[in-house]
Amino acid sequence: MTDQETKLRAEIIAQCLAMNAAGLNHGVSGNISARFEDRMLITPSGAAYEGMTPDMIASVSLEDPEGEWAGPLKPSSEWRFHQAIFAGRPDVNAIVHAHPIYCTALAMARKPLPAAHYMVAIFGGSDVRCSGYATFGTKALSNEALAALKDRTACLLANHGMITLGDTLDKAMWRATELEVLAQQYCVSLTIGGPVVLEEDEMAETHAKIAGYGKQSS
Ligand code: 13P
Ligand code: ZN
Repeated sequence: MTDQETKLRAEIIAQCLAMNAAGLNHGVSGNISARFEDRMLITPSGAAYEGMTPDMIASVSLEDPEGEWAGPLKPSSEWRFHQAIFAGRPDVNAIVHAHPIYCTALAMARKPLPAAHYMVAIFGGSDVRCSGYATFGTKALSNEALAALKDRTACLLANHGMITLGDTLDKAMWRATELEVLAQQYCVSLTIGGPVVLEEDEMAETHAKIAGYGKQSS
């Protein structure tokens, strides 16, 4: 294994630990992946992040429909949607999937996140969609996730959680943090009568201004 690959594997573990420490995810739920050459590196299934070492991260083919993999531990049960996203979105190099409280509360109600705050623009549109429901780990869930992510860098997964994308792990995690904050703000707003959702022209102005916001580009 090259130093570069070991470093990326260590970065995935660091992001998992930070994600749980920030309260964005709990226990062994969630999974994180990064594109590496013609494969993806992904957290193993059902394994605690504490004590995880770079060699425990699984390496999965981006092409094999059966998910050919290498590693001492089985890859995340959600390797299908990670694989499909990397295959279909060349701009994406990192994927965060988690079950944060407020995103998941919305997803349990099968509600999208509307443009109740201008920061919704950072996900590429005027809302963050909620996918249709499908059983975890299935091709059906992968299809639902891909549809909900069209032209977006985030989606909610019905009765499950959320996904965020980035050109780097830092960017995908930044979006995960922002998405959970926005979901919390929206849920609180719903309890006091509901937000005034921004109009399309107001969001168009935000999109024009927010392009390039943050340190990275996609
Ligand atoms: P894994 O532990 O298999 O990655 O599954 C966690 C999860 O969030 C399933 O949706
Ligand atoms: Zn999950």
